[in-house]
Amino acid sequence: MQYDVIIGLEVHAELKTESKCFCSCKNEYGSSPNRNCCPVCMALPGALPVLNKKAVEQTIRAGLALGFEINQTAIFERKNYFYPDLSKAYQISQLEKPICINGHLKVFDKEIPINRIHLEEDAGKLIHQDDLSMIDYNRCGVPLIELVTDALVEPHIETADEAIEFLTKLRQIYIYAGVADCEMEKGQMRADVNISLRPKGSKEFGTKVEMKNIMGFKSIHRAINYEIERQKEILDDGGVIVQETRKWDNDKGESYSLRTKENAEDYRYFPDPDLLAVNISNEEIQKIKESMPLLPDQLKKVFLEEYGLNEYDSDVILANKEVSDLYRACLEMYFQPKSVANWFTTEILARIKAEDKIQIDKENLVWIIKSVDEKKIRRNAAKDLLSYIWGTGLNAEAEAKKQGIMADMSSDAVFEILDKVLQEKASVVDQFKQEQDPKILNYLVGQVMKETRGKANAQEVMEKLKERLS
Ligand code: ADP
Ligand code: MG
Ligand code: ZN
Repeated sequence: MQYDVIIGLEVHAELKTESKCFCSCKNEYGSSPNRNCCPVCMALPGALPVLNKKAVEQTIRAGLALGFEINQTAIFERKNYFYPDLSKAYQISQLEKPICINGHLKVFDKEIPINRIHLEEDAGKLIHQDDLSMIDYNRCGVPLIELVTDALVEPHIETADEAIEFLTKLRQIYIYAGVADCEMEKGQMRADVNISLRPKGSKEFGTKVEMKNIMGFKSIHRAINYEIERQKEILDDGGVIVQETRKWDNDKGESYSLRTKENAEDYRYFPDPDLLAVNISNEEIQKIKESMPLLPDQLKKVFLEEYGLNEYDSDVILANKEVSDLYRACLEMYFQPKSVANWFTTEILARIKAEDKIQIDKENLVWIIKSVDEKKIRRNAAKDLLSYIWGTGLNAEAEAKKQGIMADMSSDAVFEILDKVLQEKASVVDQFKQEQDPKILNYLVGQVMKETRGKANAQEVMEKLKERLS
């Protein structure tokens, strides 16, 4: 049988803020366990939460970046459940009145509808070691936004590729908007995937299965395809899908059931009596709108239309905000979009892929690129120079001079060598005079460059050569 697949995503991202959502503890990754805690985020009796305004601002910013409406009155509710990493036995979250409603995100050619983004607090972390389990509450109370796509409204996310494209674009937008860092290894972005199948063309929705907290986009891709196949097999055999939450085991490449059925009712949501409703004024929204940095789609337009880059180069540079920031910073110093892009899509990206961080500053990089463009250094020597100073903090110009790779031979000395070459290669010169083949000119320039050990300016040599042969 043929089936239509419907995928719903719930995506959590930790907000970039100085402090936690309802107390003044640091929102910081990687401190030693249980250092960033206080009576509020530890839920000691009598402690009262105070809303962090910055967290609300960041949530609005995320919403605006994705075309959401902002609710002018938002309400915090308690989501009640017990788990050791949640010291309060409830999570402050939002159900009925989240901060953002009705957004969308373009994935390939589909505008995927998104229900909501709400603000909530993160839970702590369990650390399992041998037969011991430990709890680190540092993450308790860290502001978290949860975005929920509307899988029941068309167009749907239907494939693993579309889901990954959605997550990739979302991550990029959050990073560019300055809302979240979304470092996957740090668990700063986590996705739950809901999947259902229905016979092709049917209008009724199938029963959904949820897979929680899958780490990494590759695993999510695998998990989705596994789940689609699993449901297909059951349905083909005449079975029924059980509504359940499953856990993906990436090592085994399969999933297993965690628990069946879990509904909003199970959490006994109710408005948190310790927190007032949040009123968000139009002026506030306007202010955030005005402070919004350029987002990937807007930048892409600039790259294509103003810089004249092609689609591919634009996409690879924009894929990493640090890379595109450096690219734009270089252009401010040296506005040669294509020439600079060329270095980024090859040399810079290759290094980032291997090392995951940029280890050159704009001054040195621009100096290298410009020197090649002005034929003061040969491209290959410049590439070696880039490798040499990468991550060392060395100065490109000083190093180039020290290594003697600059084309800094005086014009007179160069022309002397040029004349010598022309004498030695008299037959080649004759050949050129007959055939006028530009390849011959290149050959002669090459000979001069060889004789000068690359210390001549090739452009100057070419000009002089043309003059001599005309
Ligand atoms: P829950 O309360 O179980 O978390 P929600 O109604 O909040 O369920 O939905 C969670 C996600 O699952 C949303 O993205 C939603 O659009 C999606 N979803 C709901 N029903 C289906 C379905 N039949 N198939 C696929 N996804 C679905
Ligand atoms: Mg859910
Ligand atoms: Zn605290």
